[in-house]
Amino acid sequence: MVYLKTDEEVELLRKANLLVGRTLAELAKVIEPGVTTKQLDNIAESYIRDNGAIPTFKGFPNPYGSPFPASICTSVNHQVVHGIPNDTPLQEGDIVSIDCGTKLNGYCGDSCYTFAVGEISDDVKMLLQTTKESLYKGIEQAIVGHRLGDISYAIQSHCEAQGYGVVREFVGHGVGKDMHEDPQVPNYGKRGNGMLLKNGLCIAIEPMIAMGVKEIYMQEDRWGIITRDKKPAAHYEHSICVRKGKADILSSFEEIEKVLRDKSLL
Ligand code: MG
Ligand code: MG
Repeated sequence: MVYLKTDEEVELLRKANLLVGRTLAELAKVIEPGVTTKQLDNIAESYIRDNGAIPTFKGFPNPYGSPFPASICTSVNHQVVHGIPNDTPLQEGDIVSIDCGTKLNGYCGDSCYTFAVGEISDDVKMLLQTTKESLYKGIEQAIVGHRLGDISYAIQSHCEAQGYGVVREFVGHGVGKDMHEDPQVPNYGKRGNGMLLKNGLCIAIEPMIAMGVKEIYMQEDRWGIITRDKKPAAHYEHSICVRKGKADILSSFEEIEKVLRDKSLL
């Protein structure tokens, strides 16, 4: 069941999503070699709660195991998504995808950004750049009259042109009072296929792209997802609304990227 949102609901979603962007910007300030993902999780949880919201990931149920124990997912290098924060210090040359969800005044924010830790290799830089570009190419297609498959195709074709693997098992989704609503938004598909896009449709678009093969494994903790060939993967996510005919991006990378520019990392 797809719930189209009113303008009032869209503004509530925007507030929850902007809080995610500000939370990720707080983390951007401290990401460097030596910091642990558990430290990042503590900062994120405090920041989200201090701003009157709930970290939606904490306690998120898992059909295969125990609920998610943290407030953010921190997926390092060959982890694609759902990495559990731990005490291992990040190292120079790592990448870490930080996925963050908030619930504020009953509405959900959901956004993800992949960060470089110190200096990273040129081929990993290209993976990050291409994955982020594919997110915006998908968003460009989120206009009234297009179909979900147009978004999916734009992401898939952009990433596969670089020889990257497009993960199939995890997809974008509707976003609203629940973090995961209908419809599913795959990162692969055919132009002109799938649901027709209408004003009020709010979805999270989130390419999960591997430098090598698209096949994945689930880790023993029943959360972390890794690439089968152990090559790195990137993940960027925006929550958007189809509004007045076109895509209105509800989350934001602006504050994150301001921090990265200030650190001369962008
Ligand atoms: Mg997310
Ligand atoms: Mg999501």
